[in-house]
Amino acid sequence: MRILVTGGAGFIGSHLCRRFVSEGHHVICLDNFFTGSFDNIKDLLEKPGFELLVQDVTQEISLDSLDQIYNMACPASPPHYQKDPVKTLKTNVLGALHVLELARRTDARVLQASTSEVYGDPALHPQREDYWGNVNPIGIRSCYDEGKRAAETLFFDYHRQYGVEIKVARIFNTYGPNMQKDDGRVVSNFIVEAIEGQNITIYGNGSQTRSFCYIEDTVEGLVRLMNSDKAIIGPINIGNPSEHTVKELAELIVALTGSKSALIFKPLPEDDPKRRKPDITQAREKLHWSPTVGICEGLQQTIKYFEGQRL
Ligand code: NAD
Ligand code: UDP
Repeated sequence: MRILVTGGAGFIGSHLCRRFVSEGHHVICLDNFFTGSFDNIKDLLEKPGFELLVQDVTQEISLDSLDQIYNMACPASPPHYQKDPVKTLKTNVLGALHVLELARRTDARVLQASTSEVYGDPALHPQREDYWGNVNPIGIRSCYDEGKRAAETLFFDYHRQYGVEIKVARIFNTYGPNMQKDDGRVVSNFIVEAIEGQNITIYGNGSQTRSFCYIEDTVEGLVRLMNSDKAIIGPINIGNPSEHTVKELAELIVALTGSKSALIFKPLPEDDPKRRKPDITQAREKLHWSPTVGICEGLQQTIKYFEGQRL
Protein backbone atom coordinates (compact mmCIF):
# COMPACT_ATOMS: atom_id res chain seq x y z
CA MET A 1 0.00 0.00 0.00
CA ARG A 2 0.94 3.68 -0.29
CA ILE A 3 0.43 5.11 3.17
CA LEU A 4 0.66 8.79 4.19
CA VAL A 5 1.47 9.52 7.83
CA THR A 6 1.09 13.20 8.70
CA GLY A 7 3.14 14.06 11.78
CA GLY A 8 5.28 11.06 10.85
CA ALA A 9 8.43 12.41 12.54
CA GLY A 10 6.66 12.74 15.89
CA PHE A 11 6.38 10.26 18.72
CA ILE A 12 3.47 8.06 17.55
CA GLY A 13 3.87 8.86 13.84
CA SER A 14 7.48 7.63 13.74
CA HIS A 15 6.45 4.26 15.20
CA LEU A 16 3.71 3.94 12.57
CA CYS A 17 6.18 4.80 9.77
CA ARG A 18 8.70 2.23 11.05
CA ARG A 19 6.07 -0.48 11.24
CA PHE A 20 4.73 0.17 7.71
CA VAL A 21 8.22 0.28 6.17
CA SER A 22 9.05 -3.05 7.88
CA GLU A 23 5.86 -4.52 6.42
CA GLY A 24 6.96 -3.51 2.92
CA HIS A 25 4.56 -0.62 2.34
CA HIS A 26 5.51 2.65 0.64
CA VAL A 27 5.38 5.32 3.33
CA ILE A 28 5.20 9.06 2.90
CA CYS A 29 6.01 10.90 6.13
CA LEU A 30 4.71 14.47 6.08
CA ASP A 31 5.94 16.74 8.87
CA ASN A 32 6.83 20.39 9.55
CA PHE A 33 9.16 19.39 12.43
CA PHE A 34 7.40 21.62 14.98
CA THR A 35 7.68 18.93 17.67
CA GLY A 36 8.95 16.07 15.51
CA SER A 37 12.55 14.98 15.31
CA PHE A 38 14.79 14.02 12.43
CA ASP A 39 16.41 11.43 14.72
CA ASN A 40 13.08 9.58 14.99
CA ILE A 41 13.13 8.78 11.26
CA LYS A 42 16.73 9.12 10.06
CA ASP A 43 17.31 5.35 9.76
CA LEU A 44 14.17 5.10 7.61
CA LEU A 45 15.51 7.61 5.06
CA GLU A 46 17.88 4.94 3.76
CA LYS A 47 15.01 2.53 3.06
CA PRO A 48 13.60 2.48 -0.48
CA GLY A 49 9.99 2.45 0.71
CA PHE A 50 10.25 5.66 2.74
CA GLU A 51 9.79 9.24 1.59
CA LEU A 52 9.96 12.44 3.66
CA LEU A 53 7.80 15.40 2.70
CA VAL A 54 8.58 18.52 4.72
CA GLN A 55 5.25 20.29 4.66
CA ASP A 56 2.69 21.92 6.92
CA VAL A 57 -0.78 20.34 7.05
CA THR A 58 -2.32 23.80 7.07
CA GLN A 59 -1.33 23.87 3.36
CA GLU A 60 -3.07 21.78 0.71
CA ILE A 61 -1.44 18.39 0.15
CA SER A 62 -0.85 17.53 -3.50
CA LEU A 63 -0.18 13.80 -3.54
CA ASP A 64 -1.69 11.07 -5.70
CA SER A 65 -2.48 7.36 -5.43
CA LEU A 66 -2.84 6.78 -1.73
CA ASP A 67 -4.46 3.81 0.01
CA GLN A 68 -4.40 4.98 3.61
CA ILE A 69 -3.82 8.24 5.50
CA TYR A 70 -3.03 8.46 9.21
CA ASN A 71 -3.57 12.08 10.33
CA MET A 72 -1.25 12.42 13.32
CA ALA A 73 0.03 15.98 12.74
CA CYS A 74 -0.54 18.16 15.81
CA PRO A 75 1.55 18.98 18.87
CA ALA A 76 0.18 16.80 21.68
CA SER A 77 1.95 18.16 24.75
CA PRO A 78 0.17 21.02 26.59
CA PRO A 79 3.23 23.36 26.71
CA HIS A 80 3.78 22.85 22.96
CA TYR A 81 0.17 23.17 21.82
CA GLN A 82 -0.29 26.24 24.05
CA LYS A 83 2.82 27.98 22.65
CA ASP A 84 0.94 29.11 19.51
CA PRO A 85 -2.73 28.28 20.17
CA VAL A 86 -3.99 29.86 16.94
CA LYS A 87 -1.61 27.66 14.96
CA THR A 88 -2.76 24.60 16.95
CA LEU A 89 -6.37 25.27 16.02
CA LYS A 90 -5.39 25.77 12.37
CA THR A 91 -3.37 22.55 12.40
CA ASN A 92 -6.36 20.63 13.72
CA VAL A 93 -9.06 22.15 11.53
CA LEU A 94 -7.22 22.95 8.28
CA GLY A 95 -5.14 19.76 8.68
CA ALA A 96 -8.33 17.68 8.92
CA LEU A 97 -9.84 19.52 5.96
CA HIS A 98 -6.76 18.92 3.80
CA VAL A 99 -6.40 15.21 4.60
CA LEU A 100 -10.12 14.71 4.03
CA GLU A 101 -9.98 16.48 0.64
CA LEU A 102 -6.96 14.32 -0.22
CA ALA A 103 -8.81 11.16 0.83
CA ARG A 104 -11.83 12.20 -1.21
CA ARG A 105 -9.69 12.88 -4.30
CA THR A 106 -7.57 9.71 -4.04
CA ASP A 107 -10.24 7.38 -2.62
CA ALA A 108 -8.01 6.64 0.36
CA ARG A 109 -9.18 5.57 3.79
CA VAL A 110 -8.32 8.16 6.44
CA LEU A 111 -7.76 7.80 10.19
CA GLN A 112 -7.94 10.74 12.56
CA ALA A 113 -5.78 10.81 15.70
CA SER A 114 -8.39 12.23 18.03
CA THR A 115 -7.94 12.30 21.76
CA SER A 116 -9.36 11.66 25.22
CA GLU A 117 -9.21 15.47 25.53
CA VAL A 118 -12.50 15.63 23.62
CA TYR A 119 -14.03 14.51 26.95
CA GLY A 120 -12.46 17.55 28.69
CA ASP A 121 -12.63 17.30 32.50
CA PRO A 122 -15.03 14.35 32.37
CA ALA A 123 -18.12 14.02 34.55
CA LEU A 124 -18.48 10.38 33.43
CA HIS A 125 -15.88 7.88 34.62
CA PRO A 126 -14.53 5.80 32.93
CA GLN A 127 -15.13 7.56 29.61
CA ARG A 128 -17.27 5.82 26.99
CA GLU A 129 -17.41 6.97 23.39
CA ASP A 130 -21.06 8.05 23.68
CA TYR A 131 -20.14 10.63 26.36
CA TRP A 132 -20.17 14.15 24.83
CA GLY A 133 -17.64 15.57 27.24
CA ASN A 134 -17.17 18.56 29.49
CA VAL A 135 -14.93 21.00 27.63
CA ASN A 136 -14.21 24.65 28.37
CA PRO A 137 -14.50 26.33 24.95
CA ILE A 138 -12.45 29.41 25.92
CA GLY A 139 -9.71 28.07 28.18
CA ILE A 140 -6.00 27.52 27.60
CA ARG A 141 -6.54 23.89 26.51
CA SER A 142 -9.39 24.75 24.12
CA CYS A 143 -7.19 25.24 21.04
CA TYR A 144 -6.38 21.54 21.30
CA ASP A 145 -9.66 20.15 22.70
CA GLU A 146 -12.02 22.15 20.50
CA GLY A 147 -9.67 21.78 17.52
CA LYS A 148 -9.84 18.00 17.87
CA ARG A 149 -13.63 18.12 18.37
CA ALA A 150 -14.05 20.22 15.20
CA ALA A 151 -11.79 17.78 13.35
CA GLU A 152 -14.05 14.89 14.42
CA THR A 153 -17.04 16.87 13.11
CA LEU A 154 -15.31 17.37 9.76
CA PHE A 155 -14.49 13.67 9.55
CA PHE A 156 -18.10 12.64 10.17
CA ASP A 157 -19.46 15.27 7.76
CA TYR A 158 -17.07 14.21 4.98
CA HIS A 159 -18.20 10.64 5.60
CA ARG A 160 -21.93 11.48 5.51
CA GLN A 161 -21.76 14.09 2.75
CA TYR A 162 -19.10 12.64 0.42
CA GLY A 163 -18.84 8.98 1.47
CA VAL A 164 -15.18 9.27 2.52
CA GLU A 165 -14.03 6.16 4.41
CA ILE A 166 -13.12 7.42 7.87
CA LYS A 167 -11.80 5.99 11.13
CA VAL A 168 -11.69 8.07 14.32
CA ALA A 169 -9.48 6.93 17.20
CA ARG A 170 -9.67 8.67 20.58
CA ILE A 171 -6.17 8.08 21.88
CA PHE A 172 -5.52 8.21 25.65
CA ASN A 173 -2.16 9.14 27.24
CA THR A 174 0.51 7.16 25.39
CA TYR A 175 4.20 7.00 26.29
CA GLY A 176 7.38 5.27 25.17
CA PRO A 177 10.59 5.64 23.15
CA ASN A 178 10.83 8.49 20.59
CA MET A 179 9.24 11.03 22.94
CA GLN A 180 11.45 14.12 23.01
CA LYS A 181 13.43 14.92 26.15
CA ASP A 182 11.78 18.36 26.21
CA ASP A 183 8.33 17.07 25.16
CA GLY A 184 6.78 18.37 28.39
CA ARG A 185 4.36 15.51 29.04
CA VAL A 186 4.38 13.82 32.40
CA VAL A 187 6.10 10.49 31.65
CA SER A 188 9.06 11.98 29.76
CA ASN A 189 9.40 14.86 32.26
CA PHE A 190 9.49 12.52 35.27
CA ILE A 191 11.92 10.07 33.66
CA VAL A 192 14.30 12.82 32.53
CA GLU A 193 14.16 14.46 35.98
CA ALA A 194 14.74 11.11 37.72
CA ILE A 195 17.70 10.16 35.51
CA GLU A 196 19.28 13.61 35.90
CA GLY A 197 18.71 13.59 39.67
CA GLN A 198 16.60 16.77 39.53
CA ASN A 199 13.49 17.34 41.61
CA ILE A 200 10.40 15.67 40.12
CA THR A 201 7.80 18.37 39.57
CA ILE A 202 4.22 17.35 40.31
CA TYR A 203 1.51 19.83 39.33
CA GLY A 204 -1.17 20.11 42.01
CA ASN A 205 -1.11 17.52 44.81
CA GLY A 206 -0.66 14.62 42.37
CA SER A 207 -4.08 13.08 43.08
CA GLN A 208 -5.26 13.65 39.48
CA THR A 209 -5.29 10.43 37.46
CA ARG A 210 -4.32 9.33 33.97
CA SER A 211 -4.32 5.88 32.33
CA PHE A 212 -1.04 5.27 30.52
CA CYS A 213 -0.76 3.15 27.39
CA TYR A 214 2.55 1.88 26.00
CA ILE A 215 3.31 2.94 22.42
CA GLU A 216 3.35 -0.61 20.96
CA ASP A 217 -0.20 -1.15 22.18
CA THR A 218 -1.45 2.18 20.84
CA VAL A 219 0.12 1.53 17.42
CA GLU A 220 -1.47 -1.94 17.27
CA GLY A 221 -4.87 -0.44 18.15
CA LEU A 222 -4.57 2.26 15.46
CA VAL A 223 -3.53 -0.24 12.78
CA ARG A 224 -6.37 -2.60 13.70
CA LEU A 225 -8.87 0.25 13.52
CA MET A 226 -7.57 1.41 10.14
CA ASN A 227 -7.82 -2.11 8.71
CA SER A 228 -11.16 -2.97 10.28
CA ASP A 229 -14.42 -3.48 8.40
CA LYS A 230 -15.55 -0.40 6.46
CA ALA A 231 -18.61 -0.07 8.71
CA ILE A 232 -16.45 0.46 11.81
CA ILE A 233 -15.74 4.18 11.78
CA GLY A 234 -15.55 5.00 15.51
CA PRO A 235 -14.99 7.05 17.46
CA ILE A 236 -13.18 4.31 19.36
CA ASN A 237 -11.15 4.75 22.54
CA ILE A 238 -7.58 3.47 22.27
CA GLY A 239 -5.96 3.45 25.69
CA ASN A 240 -4.98 1.40 28.71
CA PRO A 241 -7.67 1.30 31.42
CA SER A 242 -5.12 0.87 34.21
CA GLU A 243 -5.48 4.17 36.07
CA HIS A 244 -2.80 5.82 38.24
CA THR A 245 -2.47 9.06 40.16
CA VAL A 246 0.31 11.35 39.00
CA LYS A 247 1.97 10.94 42.42
CA GLU A 248 1.94 7.13 42.05
CA LEU A 249 3.56 7.52 38.64
CA ALA A 250 6.32 9.71 40.12
CA GLU A 251 6.97 7.20 42.90
CA LEU A 252 7.08 4.31 40.43
CA ILE A 253 9.58 6.12 38.19
CA VAL A 254 11.78 6.97 41.20
CA ALA A 255 11.73 3.29 42.22
CA LEU A 256 12.42 1.96 38.71
CA THR A 257 15.32 4.37 38.06
CA GLY A 258 16.76 4.05 41.58
CA SER A 259 16.85 7.86 41.59
CA LYS A 260 17.46 10.05 44.63
CA SER A 261 15.18 12.77 43.20
CA ALA A 262 12.74 14.44 45.58
CA LEU A 263 9.11 15.09 44.70
CA ILE A 264 8.16 18.78 44.65
CA PHE A 265 4.76 20.34 44.05
CA LYS A 266 3.78 23.28 41.81
CA PRO A 267 0.35 24.79 41.07
CA LEU A 268 -1.98 22.76 38.89
CA PRO A 269 -2.43 24.32 35.42
CA GLU A 270 -5.87 25.73 34.54
CA ASP A 271 -8.48 23.16 33.36
CA ASP A 272 -6.21 20.17 34.07
CA PRO A 273 -8.58 17.13 33.97
CA LYS A 274 -8.98 15.45 37.39
CA ARG A 275 -9.61 11.87 36.26
CA ARG A 276 -9.17 10.00 33.02
CA LYS A 277 -9.67 6.36 32.16
CA PRO A 278 -10.92 4.80 28.93
CA ASP A 279 -13.78 2.34 28.67
CA ILE A 280 -12.39 0.08 25.94
CA THR A 281 -15.37 -2.24 25.50
CA GLN A 282 -15.76 -1.13 21.87
CA ALA A 283 -12.10 -1.71 21.02
CA ARG A 284 -12.21 -5.13 22.67
CA GLU A 285 -15.40 -6.18 20.85
CA LYS A 286 -14.94 -4.56 17.44
CA LEU A 287 -11.15 -4.67 17.03
CA HIS A 288 -10.37 -7.60 19.37
CA TRP A 289 -7.75 -5.28 20.84
CA SER A 290 -6.66 -4.63 24.37
CA PRO A 291 -3.32 -3.45 25.78
CA THR A 292 -0.72 -6.09 26.61
CA VAL A 293 2.14 -4.06 28.12
CA GLY A 294 1.87 -3.22 31.83
CA ILE A 295 3.03 0.06 33.32
CA CYS A 296 6.26 -1.33 34.89
CA GLU A 297 7.38 -3.03 31.68
CA GLY A 298 6.50 -0.01 29.54
CA LEU A 299 8.26 2.41 31.88
CA GLN A 300 11.36 0.19 31.96
CA GLN A 301 11.55 0.28 28.14
CA THR A 302 11.08 4.05 28.16
CA ILE A 303 13.70 4.58 30.87
CA LYS A 304 16.14 2.45 28.86
CA TYR A 305 15.45 4.65 25.82
CA PHE A 306 16.10 7.91 27.66
CA GLU A 307 19.24 6.50 29.32
CA GLY A 308 20.47 5.61 25.82
CA GLN A 309 19.88 9.20 24.68
CA ARG A 310 22.83 10.27 26.91
CA LEU A 311 20.86 13.02 28.63
P1 NAD B 1 4.16 14.70 18.74
O1 NAD B 1 4.16 16.13 19.12
O2 NAD B 1 5.34 13.87 19.13
O3 NAD B 1 3.99 14.52 17.17
C1 NAD B 1 3.25 15.40 16.37
C2 NAD B 1 3.94 15.53 15.03
O4 NAD B 1 3.17 16.41 14.19
C3 NAD B 1 5.34 16.16 15.13
O5 NAD B 1 6.25 15.45 14.34
C4 NAD B 1 5.13 17.57 14.62
O6 NAD B 1 6.31 18.15 14.07
C5 NAD B 1 4.03 17.37 13.59
N1 NAD B 1 3.24 18.58 13.33
C6 NAD B 1 2.69 19.43 14.23
N2 NAD B 1 2.04 20.43 13.61
C7 NAD B 1 2.17 20.19 12.28
C8 NAD B 1 1.72 20.87 11.12
N3 NAD B 1 1.00 22.00 11.19
N4 NAD B 1 2.05 20.36 9.90
C9 NAD B 1 2.79 19.21 9.81
N5 NAD B 1 3.25 18.54 10.88
C10 NAD B 1 2.94 19.02 12.09
O7 NAD B 1 2.81 14.07 19.31
P2 NAD B 1 2.33 12.55 19.40
O8 NAD B 1 2.25 12.17 20.80
O9 NAD B 1 3.10 11.72 18.45
O10 NAD B 1 0.84 12.72 18.88
C11 NAD B 1 0.47 12.40 17.54
C12 NAD B 1 -1.01 12.62 17.35
O11 NAD B 1 -1.74 11.79 18.25
C13 NAD B 1 -1.46 14.06 17.62
O12 NAD B 1 -2.44 14.41 16.68
C14 NAD B 1 -2.05 13.99 19.00
O13 NAD B 1 -3.04 14.96 19.20
C15 NAD B 1 -2.63 12.59 19.02
N6 NAD B 1 -2.72 12.07 20.39
C16 NAD B 1 -1.60 11.70 21.07
C17 NAD B 1 -1.70 11.24 22.38
C18 NAD B 1 -0.51 10.79 23.17
O14 NAD B 1 -0.65 10.47 24.35
N7 NAD B 1 0.68 10.71 22.61
C19 NAD B 1 -2.95 11.20 23.00
C20 NAD B 1 -4.07 11.62 22.28
C21 NAD B 1 -3.94 12.03 20.97
N1 UDP C 1 2.11 16.82 35.07
C1 UDP C 1 2.93 16.93 36.19
N2 UDP C 1 4.24 17.23 36.01
C2 UDP C 1 4.78 17.40 34.78
C3 UDP C 1 3.96 17.28 33.65
C4 UDP C 1 2.61 16.99 33.83
O1 UDP C 1 2.47 16.77 37.33
O2 UDP C 1 6.01 17.64 34.69
C5 UDP C 1 0.69 16.46 35.27
C6 UDP C 1 -0.31 17.33 34.51
O3 UDP C 1 -0.65 18.47 35.27
C7 UDP C 1 -1.46 16.37 34.31
C8 UDP C 1 -0.79 15.00 34.16
O4 UDP C 1 0.51 15.15 34.75
O5 UDP C 1 -2.29 16.35 35.45
C9 UDP C 1 -0.66 14.56 32.73
O6 UDP C 1 -0.06 15.60 32.01
P1 UDP C 1 0.37 15.49 30.48
O7 UDP C 1 0.82 16.85 30.05
O8 UDP C 1 1.31 14.36 30.30
O9 UDP C 1 -0.95 15.04 29.72
P2 UDP C 1 -2.46 15.57 29.73
O10 UDP C 1 -2.69 16.52 30.85
O11 UDP C 1 -2.65 16.22 28.40
O12 UDP C 1 -3.23 14.32 29.92
